[in-house]
Amino acid sequence: MTNEMKVLVKAHAREGLWLQTAPMPEIGPDDVLIRINKTGICGTDIHIWNWDEWAQKTVPVPLITGHEFAGEIVELGRNVEGLALGQRCSGEGHLIGKQSRQSRAGKFHLDPQTRGIGVNEQGAFAECLCLPAFNVVPLPDEISDDIGAILDPLGNAVHTALSFDLVGEDVLITGAGPIGIMAAAVARHAGARNVVITDINQDRLDLAAKVADVVPVNVTTDDLADIQAQLQITQGFDVGLEMSGNQIALDQMVEAMVMGGRIALLGIPPGKSPVDWSRIVFKAITIKGIYGREIFETWYKMIAMLQNGLDVSGVITHRFGVQDYAEGFAAMKSGHSGKVVLDWTAL
Ligand code: NAD
Ligand code: ZN
Repeated sequence: MTNEMKVLVKAHAREGLWLQTAPMPEIGPDDVLIRINKTGICGTDIHIWNWDEWAQKTVPVPLITGHEFAGEIVELGRNVEGLALGQRCSGEGHLIGKQSRQSRAGKFHLDPQTRGIGVNEQGAFAECLCLPAFNVVPLPDEISDDIGAILDPLGNAVHTALSFDLVGEDVLITGAGPIGIMAAAVARHAGARNVVITDINQDRLDLAAKVADVVPVNVTTDDLADIQAQLQITQGFDVGLEMSGNQIALDQMVEAMVMGGRIALLGIPPGKSPVDWSRIVFKAITIKGIYGREIFETWYKMIAMLQNGLDVSGVITHRFGVQDYAEGFAAMKSGHSGKVVLDWTAL
């Protein structure tokens, strides 16, 4: 191996990302070095590309971006046990501390010291990634590198969808982005009776209907109440998964819920937004915020479901060699794509 590698880096504090050369990372005793095969482009990477207000106050420059990946272990730190050279893997991109009360209780996903690869620390858009061995998730043979590269957002979908008991329930998902679509597939797989997904973008709804057995509703043209009546959802949805970050969608969800309904919020609103709390109080609705994935219970469940018939492969709509990364980012920015996967193996 040479001591240099190609990386996609936020090299300047302005719009764009740059394919450059960087030194090969040196791993510590508890780390592994992963040769990256495939990476997924996330909405977060688009914020970093655009260099919006959030990115400017969060992301140091220069920084190797990217946090959705699949690859293979090529070096092991001297303390690492239970992993082997050549092991195919993905991994948890949230680097947690071990000091907080939450971590010491084993609730790693609630650690307040969490730092993200590709956001706060050097990321996965690189030929090689240094990752704590603790964060590595081995991939079974039947899970491809393409799917391995989207386990991070699939994990967001799984964490949200499995927050409340779905079996036999009517589920409303607002936002048919890649995560909403994957959550719909998970909800069906887990045993929901009806899964209705809303969006304002018809391409996204068409993709949702292709990938999962769901009822797509374009809220700009269709009335959600009519669809509910057709499906004989007489009192309202039992479980809501908010995956748009849009205030209008959340209002619509609250109205469409049953008394005592449960809502999991993954979507991130751009700023403060007015909420009619009295509706939530009088409907006795439970709301749960979701951040990231449960470490590592979400990973366990999603790999088990993928091995047992969950198929989200249709959510990947575009694949590019990393040299064509600008086209990949353009596809994501168009708002019409599903997941976009970049291939690092042909460099
Ligand atoms: P995305 O932006 O691709 O999808 C959001 C979808 O919501 C779009 O298709 C958009 O057209 C749709 N939408 C907009 N207004 C709507 C409305 N009124 N009704 C219904 N749909 C509407 O996002 P994604 O990558 O699928 O991620 C989903 C959300 O989850 C985003 O808000 C993202 O920021 C957030 N997210 C949160 C976490 C977390 O840990 N909490 C992690 C990843 C992503
Ligand atoms: Zn992501």
